[in-house]
Amino acid sequence: MPNGRDATHSGPTEKCGVVGVSLEERDAARPLYYSLYALQHRGQESAGIVTHDGFQQHSHVEMGLVGDAFGEDDIADLRGSAGIGHVRYPTAGSVNKSCAQPFTVSFKSGALGLSHNGNLVNADEVREELAAQGHAFTSDGDTEVIAHDLARNLLESDLVRAVKRTMGRIHGSYSLTITHDDTVLGVRDPEGNRPLCIGELEDGYVLASESAAIDTLDGELVRDVRPGELVVLHPGGEGFDSYQLFERENTAHCFFEHVYFARPDSVIDDELVYEVRRELGRQLWEEGGIETDVVMPVPDSGRAFASGYAEAAQEEGSGVEFAEGLMKNRYVGRTFIMPTQDERERAVRLKLNPIKSTVEGKTVTLIDDSIVRGTTSTQLVDLLKDCGAEEVHMRIGAPPIVAPCYMGIDMATREELIAADKSVEEIREAIAADSLSYLSTEAVAEALGRSQADLCLGCVTGEYPYDVEGEETDREVTRPEIGGVAGADD
Ligand code: SF4
Repeated sequence: MPNGRDATHSGPTEKCGVVGVSLEERDAARPLYYSLYALQHRGQESAGIVTHDGFQQHSHVEMGLVGDAFGEDDIADLRGSAGIGHVRYPTAGSVNKSCAQPFTVSFKSGALGLSHNGNLVNADEVREELAAQGHAFTSDGDTEVIAHDLARNLLESDLVRAVKRTMGRIHGSYSLTITHDDTVLGVRDPEGNRPLCIGELEDGYVLASESAAIDTLDGELVRDVRPGELVVLHPGGEGFDSYQLFERENTAHCFFEHVYFARPDSVIDDELVYEVRRELGRQLWEEGGIETDVVMPVPDSGRAFASGYAEAAQEEGSGVEFAEGLMKNRYVGRTFIMPTQDERERAVRLKLNPIKSTVEGKTVTLIDDSIVRGTTSTQLVDLLKDCGAEEVHMRIGAPPIVAPCYMGIDMATREELIAADKSVEEIREAIAADSLSYLSTEAVAEALGRSQADLCLGCVTGEYPYDVEGEETDREVTRPEIGGVAGADD
C-alpha cells in the first residue's frame, strides 16, 4: 500500500478518504477514480463516485477496492464535469453497501451527494430529531444524518447558510466533500481534526483528503482547507470561494495522521508527512536513544522514523548502522484469511522475514510507529532473537496508546490496548524486549511544529477535544477476520 502499510494490517485503521473535482469541460469521473486510487490506504471496504452533468446526478458505489469497484463502463456512465468520491473503512455503521459512500439524497431543491471522513459524536441525537420530523433513514451511518440535515436546511436557506446551520448542529470530526447539483463543496470541521486540501488542475480544482491525490492528477497543492471553512468550487472549474463559517481558539488536528495514517508523500497542514516522521525519529534518539550495532525499521511504516533516528545518532558520533533487517512479502493481500489464532500468530513469518546476516550476533534497535495490542511486537522480538540477535531494543515513534479513538479511527477496544493498563516496563516484559521506550507528547508536538493544545492527543492522553461522554467506541464492526501483520503492530 502506498502509505507503507498493507491491507492485512489490523492496527489502527483510518476511516475514509474523500475527493471532489470541478472541471471546465471534461468528465470528472476519471480524475476522481485516479485520486481515489491515491487514497486507497484510507479505506478498502468500499469505493464510490457521484457526478452531476448539470441536469442529472450519476452514482456508482461498490464494495471492494477502487480497482475492483469500477469498470470502464461504470466510469463512462458517470457523466458530468463535477463530482465527488469516497473510499471507506467503517468504524461506525454496518459493513455493507447501505453505508458505502458518497451518500445521495434527492429533494425539492436539488440533488445532494456527500462523502465524509470522520465521526460525529452526536449523530444519534440528530438522527432522532430528523426521524421525528419524518426523515426516513436507509443506513445506520452518520453520513446520512449529515446529508438529511443539510437537505432540510437547503429547503429554507441558501447554500452557505444551510451548510453553516448543519455545521452548527453536528459535532465531531468531519472532512466532507459535497455535490449540490453541479456545485462541489469542501467542508472541514471547526477543530480541523481530519485533513482536507485544495489543489489546482490545468482545467479546474480538486479537493482531497491528502495532497498525494492532487499530485496523482498532476495538480498543484493550493493550501489546506482551514478548520471551520467552507470551500465552494465554481461549476466549470473556474475558481473557488471561501467562507470561514466557524473559528475556534484551538484546533484539534489528529497527530496520528502524521505518525501513521497519511501517505509519507502527502503534505498535511503545511507539513510533509515524511519529514515529520523523520523528525519524530530524531526526537526518539534524543529522548531514548540507545547504542546498538544496528537500527532497523519495521517495514514499511517504521522506515522514516528509523532513518531520522539513525541520522541523529550518527550526528552525535554513534556507530549505529542503519540496516533493513526485515524483508516484507508484498503479496500477502487482504484476502489472506487465517481462521485460527494459531495461524494468525504464524502470519508474521509469512509477512516478514529477517535477513539473518544483518541481525546474527548483533545488538538491534527495532523502530516502529506504534504498539496497539502488542502481539506483533512480541512476535518480531522473538523472530529477531531466533535469528541470532543478541539484544532487541524497541523504540516507538509515538506515545503509548492508552485509550480508544472516538473520532473515527478503528483503534481497538480499551481492553485490547496493551498500554491501557500496563506501564512501559510491563509492556517491555510482555513483548520480551531488552528495552522499550516511547516518544513523549511534547516531542510529538515539537516535531509537528504545533502546541499540544492544537492537536488531538486523545488516544494517548485520554483527553478528547470533543464532548465524547456516552460515545460507544467499543462498538462491534462486523467484518471478516483477516490475519496478517505489518507496519506498526497487530
Ligand atoms: S484520538 Fe488519536 S487517532 Fe483519534 S483523532 Fe485523536 S489523535 Fe487521532
